[in-house]
Amino acid sequence: MAALLSVDKLNKTYQKKFKALSDVSLDVMHGEFIALLGPSGCGKTTLLATLAGFLTPDSGRIHIDGKDITDVPPHKRTLNTVFQNYALFPHMSVLDNVSYGPLRTGAGKAEARTRAQEALEMVGLSQMAARYPADMSGGQRQRVALARAIVNRPKLLLLDEPLSALDMKLRKRMQRELKALQEKLAISFIFVTHDQEEAMAMADRIVVMNQGAIEQIGTGDEIYKRPASRFVADFIGDANLLDCHYASGQLRLTCCDMPLRQADAYDKRGLVAMFRPEDIEVRRSDDAHTMGTRQARVLDVVSIGSYTTIYLQLNDAHVEVRRIGANDLSLRKGDLVNVRFPAERVHFVEA
Ligand code: ATP
Repeated sequence: MAALLSVDKLNKTYQKKFKALSDVSLDVMHGEFIALLGPSGCGKTTLLATLAGFLTPDSGRIHIDGKDITDVPPHKRTLNTVFQNYALFPHMSVLDNVSYGPLRTGAGKAEARTRAQEALEMVGLSQMAARYPADMSGGQRQRVALARAIVNRPKLLLLDEPLSALDMKLRKRMQRELKALQEKLAISFIFVTHDQEEAMAMADRIVVMNQGAIEQIGTGDEIYKRPASRFVADFIGDANLLDCHYASGQLRLTCCDMPLRQADAYDKRGLVAMFRPEDIEVRRSDDAHTMGTRQARVLDVVSIGSYTTIYLQLNDAHVEVRRIGANDLSLRKGDLVNVRFPAERVHFVEA
């Protein structure tokens, strides 16, 4: 299937010296939910603003449905943007805020109202059409902004951290609502966030950016289990990144000389072993099962109810292990434990 949006080698430099986008290429399919994820300053907003047409790239092309829109002004692109601060008109009722789009694009007054009502219905606000933004909660204002963005039925919606002003509980609810709405509308979404849990919870595919470049594009599962680089491994979730060395034909964990797998010539280039905290096994030192384990000392145990994190010192390495539920092994600071690194759960990234 042909892509809805096709971005080809976009470059953008600010003030002739600061490179904010570096050869960014990306295809977005019809009805796809893409999360743009990365640390502050990595270029997410710059990419979104370039797609929206508020910024002109130095080079590269943008196509929608096969049509080159790189030089098309923002209001003529078949896309819309939802900003972090909602940008609602405070002096207009909710209905007028939402009707504004269709009116501006030439709809008659009656038709604009009908379409605005439909959009408000979509976001569950049909009862609040007469209200003013000031008399609504943050979540409701967010929904008005969404209704306004979808009322003209864009093919693509760009959302710049639209939930960041909401408290955690409301934010989680809005994540599910927004995802459901996106599926119902079958509009493609590009959703900027620096919150990896939000990206994982909502997106079909996640685009991880770092210093203006795309590090990896994949499903949440792919990015979590098979990060393409050390940066992605570290940025997404918690990762134990452990040095390896090559000895007697095997790749071995340096901190405890544990073999991970047979090595080939490629491995001599220097790889780091990544284990997610939940993939490492820990047993009490009085446990009889010691095969394949190494001894480590407990530095700290932090239990937050749903899971417990155990921080370990293993020779000169720090290792983080996670277990579901409470501190069921009754571990305490200073205890000795046996740890095992299951070789089948390792993922290697280049050092
Ligand atoms: P955040 O998550 O903090 O919003 P971001 O990933 O959206 O960050 P951008 O706002 O796209 O990042 O900025 C990318 C880089 O370009 C940053 O280092 C920023 O300092 C720089 N930058 C952004 N706008 C300008 C500008 N108008 N002039 C100069 N540099 C800029």
